[in-house]
Amino acid sequence: MDDCLFCKIAEGKIPSTKVYEDEMVFAFRDINPQAPVHILLIPKKHISGWSAVTGESDALLAHLMRTAAVIAEREGLQEDGYRIVSNCGKNACQSVMHLHLHILGGELMSGKMA
Ligand code: 5GP
Ligand code: ZN
Repeated sequence: MDDCLFCKIAEGKIPSTKVYEDEMVFAFRDINPQAPVHILLIPKKHISGWSAVTGESDALLAHLMRTAAVIAEREGLQEDGYRIVSNCGKNACQSVMHLHLHILGGELMSGKMA
């Protein structure tokens, strides 16, 4: 989609530190990491957020979630654990309107979910 930061990153039009890519999803390091490992995982298809999800994307979203676990393992996070977070909308402070998962790890997280 034109004018979407994460679409442009997935298309390589804006540089990023790529971690993983396949035909459906793209992962890159967050520009402002909140943990020693902070990766963003997105579907290549533009979906603005969880509110815009339809059944048509079921296979894509299952792949997205499984890929998050694969990436976490590759990053060495499996043994000590990690957190997967996804913000939707205003109250969750979603700032980029292209659905994404945050994969966070490398240190002990607080009990708070953010
Ligand atoms: P949200 O707040 O929407 O859940 O998460 C958006 C994330 O995108 C933030 O953690 C922010 O640091 C990250 N981000 C914003 N702009 C860029 C960018 O240009 N490059 C990268 N790698 N991350 C970005
Ligand atoms: Zn997009």
